[in-house]
Amino acid sequence: MIEQATIVCVVCPVSCAVLVEFEGDGIIKTDHNQCKLALDYVTDELFDPRRTLTTSLPVDGGKAPLVSVKTAQGLPKDDVLSAMQSLSGIHVTAPVHIGDVIVEDVLGTGIHLVATRNVEAA
Ligand code: SF4
Repeated sequence: MIEQATIVCVVCPVSCAVLVEFEGDGIIKTDHNQCKLALDYVTDELFDPRRTLTTSLPVDGGKAPLVSVKTAQGLPKDDVLSAMQSLSGIHVTAPVHIGDVIVEDVLGTGIHLVATRNVEAA
């Protein structure tokens, strides 16, 4: 059965409201997009939506109380809340450097949580 959806492309600030026709796991056509970049975006949004988890975690023994972190790649959208809950109670020990892996293999996804700022030891 052919289905339709409207997905706002966020690849650039134009934010086209892309009308997409699809069947099963295949795109039939898109409309109202101003460029071809929409195709990959709407395909991912329809069939494998992902989001980067960003948050902050407490730091023990650091010059700052928190370190910002994010997942190195997008997590499956349905896993983001569980991933956030899995970080509860985690403390990071200073020093922490940008790119340090804070949590390996978040929820068995193979995706790591990494630091996005430096926090030196106090
Ligand atoms: S379809 Fe192209 S022009 Fe429109 S928001 Fe996406 S990237 Fe930008």
